[in-house]
Amino acid sequence: MASTEPTGAIARLMDELGNLPGIGPKSAERITHFLLASETKDVLALADALRDVVQKVHPCRQCCNLTEDELCNICSDGKRDPTLLCVVEQPRDLMSIERAGTYRGLYHVLQGRLAPLDGVGPEKLTIDALMHRVNQGGVKEIIMATNPTLEGDGTALYVSNLLAGTGVKITRLARGLPSGSVLEFANTQMLADAIEGRRVF
Ligand SMILES: [Zn+2]
Repeated sequence: MASTEPTGAIARLMDELGNLPGIGPKSAERITHFLLASETKDVLALADALRDVVQKVHPCRQCCNLTEDELCNICSDGKRDPTLLCVVEQPRDLMSIERAGTYRGLYHVLQGRLAPLDGVGPEKLTIDALMHRVNQGGVKEIIMATNPTLEGDGTALYVSNLLAGTGVKITRLARGLPSGSVLEFANTQMLADAIEGRRVF
């Protein structure tokens, strides 16, 4: 009996879609059939968008946020306070804090968190770039806004220890955030409160 499993290009697309977060085999199949039934130009627009993000988007030279330019739109905004740095794990955390709408300083994106058991040590993060930035002077306060998880807290502690001799004030987001939750899913008011109520580390 011939197999009814898709093969070739269709199987490949389903496999690729199935690798995306939150997309199980059923959803991958549904999206694949949606695309197969769509106008060619619409599907190619999606393909172009995927190619563009891969080819054009890269880390900001200063803060490692994502940008298509040398500096991201936050670093190049002259109205932001350059004496205040908010250290986050990922660009999506930065976006969550930006959505809260109250923070007016700059950022530093670590591009991850320390996870020794997964082989993620300090050299895999942008900690050197952060130290270089701080050593250049001008930064007065650093808000550690890593996630309130075991690894996020460990990362905040590690970075804070490195910064200890620099004379920069170090604060941590207030625990309005439920422990173990991640910034990405916090609501905007919760994040605004956490920034307002930050405490000395
Ligand atoms: Zn930047």
